[in-house]
Amino acid sequence: MKFNPVIEHLKTYEPGKPIELVVREFGIGSDEIVKLASNENPHGCSEKATEAVRKNAHLMYRYPDDTMTALKSKLSARFSVDEKELIIGAGSDQIIEFACHAKLYGGAKILQSEITFAMYQIYAAQCGATVVKSPGIAHDLDAMYELYRKEEPEIVFLCAPNNPTGDCLDRVDIENFIERIDPDTLVVVDGAYQEYAAFKDPNKALDPAVLIEKFPNVLYLGTFSKAYGLGGMRIGYGIARRDIIASLYKLRPPFNVTTLSLIAAERALEDQEFVKNSLKDCFLQMESYLAFAEKHGIEVIESYTNFITFLLDGVTDSTALADALLRRGVIVRDLRGYGLNAIRITIGKAEENRRFFDVAEQILDSGAK
Ligand code: PMP
Repeated sequence: MKFNPVIEHLKTYEPGKPIELVVREFGIGSDEIVKLASNENPHGCSEKATEAVRKNAHLMYRYPDDTMTALKSKLSARFSVDEKELIIGAGSDQIIEFACHAKLYGGAKILQSEITFAMYQIYAAQCGATVVKSPGIAHDLDAMYELYRKEEPEIVFLCAPNNPTGDCLDRVDIENFIERIDPDTLVVVDGAYQEYAAFKDPNKALDPAVLIEKFPNVLYLGTFSKAYGLGGMRIGYGIARRDIIASLYKLRPPFNVTTLSLIAAERALEDQEFVKNSLKDCFLQMESYLAFAEKHGIEVIESYTNFITFLLDGVTDSTALADALLRRGVIVRDLRGYGLNAIRITIGKAEENRRFFDVAEQILDSGAK
């Protein structure tokens, strides 16, 4: 069968391995598996959100409120933006997709850092666009600007903090960079892990209202999948000036976010205490990863997220380590596919992290691969 030739060259996004697959492949009981691969919140989500979903489960037979007014008004109050400056998607992934379809046509280009969230280039490639990458493990804004001038891309993606490395640009540097970008170029600022960065270092905190007030061409992205613990509900949002949002809206399928996801997000947003406790515990637990890395001579990238990246040059091979961990029921992310000899580990609960340390230590000490 013939398909759109663009599809032939596309790579399929590889998510972190699900627990069910490890149960099937390795015969390990699901309660013995520790999944530290998809940057989920190990504490789950707010009880208020769970309760609201339970209470409203009977609404499943109806289509959702497609105006999404209840959640929009909460988001609008939280971020001090107008409801017309908001769009809600089935994950922020879907908003990246809308942005690509809105801007990329006829030999278009995107510009991104070499090692960043994989979906930018996947959606761009779906639109037949060329992906230009600035080299380096972290965003190099000077190199990006040079490439911007040379290549004239339609979209520039900035991921702050960056997945899969965990590092984060300073707000000032982001703003100085965008200042130099032509207003007709869309700058997507992906804040999927912003709650973590803002908690750790105010210099990394982005205020979407300020960004869109200063810049007519910024699309800020946020998600409920990380700090709010609603990855399974698939809900995220975009914030931009009205003209950008109005264009993205034209690409939105009807009822793109489910009733229960909207309800869960609304309640989750109200429970900032839950979010604060999750952030506190995440950075507390991160300390034990830093200690583990130091003990084993592993270099780490300073993380402003709920995951940590171990650079393994001179220590071991990342694919071998990730496989050995997997066979023992610990799922982490091998970053070989990004060209790095590194693994990315989501910070779990204390007991999950201990399991990682025990198993990883056995593997590293035995030299086993
Ligand atoms: N941006 C980044 C940087 C991410 O890491 C992710 C999830 N892995 C997303 C966007 C998409 O998140 P979601 O679709 O779950 O909102």
